[in-house]
Amino acid sequence: MQVRIHRGAHEIGGNCIEVAAGQDRIVLDLGRPLSAGWDDVVPLPDVSGLAAPDPTFHGVVLSHPHLDHYGLAELLHSDVSVFLGAEAERVLKAAAFFSPISKSPRLAGTLQDKVPLKLGPFTVTPYLTDHSAFDAYSLLVEAAGRRLFYTGDIRGHGRKSRLFDRLVAAARDVDVLLMEGTNVRAEATPAQRTTETDVENDLVNTLASTPGLVAVFSSAQNLDRLVTVFRAARRSGRTLVVDLYTATVATATDRPSIPQPGFEGLAVYVPQRQRRLVADSKEFERVAAVADVRMFPEDLATERGKLAFLGTSSTAAELVDAGGLRDGAVVWSLWEGYLKQPAGTRLRDLLAEAEVPLLHHHTLGTRTRRRSRSARCCLSVSAGRADSLRSDRSVR
Ligand SMILES: [Zn+2]
Repeated sequence: MQVRIHRGAHEIGGNCIEVAAGQDRIVLDLGRPLSAGWDDVVPLPDVSGLAAPDPTFHGVVLSHPHLDHYGLAELLHSDVSVFLGAEAERVLKAAAFFSPISKSPRLAGTLQDKVPLKLGPFTVTPYLTDHSAFDAYSLLVEAAGRRLFYTGDIRGHGRKSRLFDRLVAAARDVDVLLMEGTNVRAEATPAQRTTETDVENDLVNTLASTPGLVAVFSSAQNLDRLVTVFRAARRSGRTLVVDLYTATVATATDRPSIPQPGFEGLAVYVPQRQRRLVADSKEFERVAAVADVRMFPEDLATERGKLAFLGTSSTAAELVDAGGLRDGAVVWSLWEGYLKQPAGTRLRDLLAEAEVPLLHHHTLGTRTRRRSRSARCCLSVSAGRADSLRSDRSVR
């Protein structure tokens, strides 16, 4: 077995790992680099079989639905077999209406926990793992008598942290471990050890000390965080109002454990931008489906002391205009670095002018952006260990 890391060895995200057994090959993840701007054209990595048919190439296995792990899949030749979790596919399809970059690739099959997938001489066994992306997997690859374990993005502090222990057990007796390392440290400060339970408790305290609306800004596809905010709202005796994007993604999971319209204590608000998307597409059934639990701007103002809100930060201005954030607070529940970018600066200015406090309740390691030179490295897996490692920092 041979392994070539085309990207992701010396930067966070943008992962692409080619695994070969003799002439046969597969690719694990096909991410768009986090350092690439939205308008940047990023070519496919130089792997035969991605852009044109090649009988020795047996497919692409995507560990989870984050752009830095699947974002280049839309460039693949239509004959390439692509695999991703079934629920991850549903989440991406639901998200695409609101976020066109969240396109799901056309899949040849779906990943299921501990159900092996045969791709030519390779057996790929997915292990459901704890990550902020829904339906995320680590991947055990077996071929030519060798075993490679690729963790994908992992964490041990989320709502599914028990999966981390299972993963440690599964990764034993492998020849090579390829591991995510966004936040690997010998020792962590208390802030770096924050768990989803800590975020929930912090939110409960904020809800108790805030007379008005508490608006939490997060990613609509971070469903662990939805569970966290919903639990905090219920513990505080408040109704959680989610935006239509969040409600749509939660419903698409078809999981009774994920808070969604129909849950007691959950309502839906349709922000202006999402109203325009519905009007332009004439898909009015999207709002009809939440009519029974829908709230309007005036409700957010009059009921503000009894509500928490979860949505995207683009809703901040209309929450201020509606009077919803009078006596309220905004909780930033994303990577702090986004607040230093232009949209983040605008948000901070808006809240400062409206005299709305901006708080931070988040865990580390769920999403990090860092600029770095691309790198590529190769290793051969033989005699039960990696016997050579070569890194070429100049290759892009
Ligand atoms: Zn990820």
